[in-house]
Amino acid sequence: MYAVRQWSVRHARGMNAFYGGFESLLVRLAGLWRALGHERLEVPFAFAERQVKGLLFDCQMCGQCVLSATGMSCPMNCPKNLRNGPCGGVRENGNCEVKPHMRCVWVAAFDGARRMPGGVEAMRQVQPAVDRRLEGRSSWLRIVRERTGDTGATSGPTGKPAAAKPVPAKPAGGQS
Ligand code: SF4
Repeated sequence: MYAVRQWSVRHARGMNAFYGGFESLLVRLAGLWRALGHERLEVPFAFAERQVKGLLFDCQMCGQCVLSATGMSCPMNCPKNLRNGPCGGVRENGNCEVKPHMRCVWVAAFDGARRMPGGVEAMRQVQPAVDRRLEGRSSWLRIVRERTGDTGATSGPTGKPAAAKPVPAKPAGGQS
């Protein structure tokens, strides 16, 4: 919802702090997620993430969240899906050239980043191109895997983690 998305950017500092705590909790529970199996958890996690972040950020479920580096303004709401700053078409009033009634997500991102400790520095990170194979998957589980180096696969009979299933490839399309 657009109004809620704008509210989230205005409260980027608090949202970022809350999100940081939530991510830490997810990582602390990594053993539980591993025991249950990330593949089994993927659907319920993605469902919950879609509901919560859809409401707060108009999340498009790209599966590789960068909100903490974009002032809590989701870059996937840019009609061009730009992940590294605005195009050259931002209107004088700060709105989008494609959607004239929508504030440019990158103008909002700078506003949000200024409210967050280290937010402007975080925006300087170059974001990789969107991996479309991750669309619809949970960023939350992905963060757990990244932070712990865990594949997220359930333990096999030997007690060692089973091999992770490959992410099914989708046809390439769009741009970063
Ligand atoms: S960056 Fe991706 S995961 Fe994060 S809010 Fe936007 S669409 Fe959702």
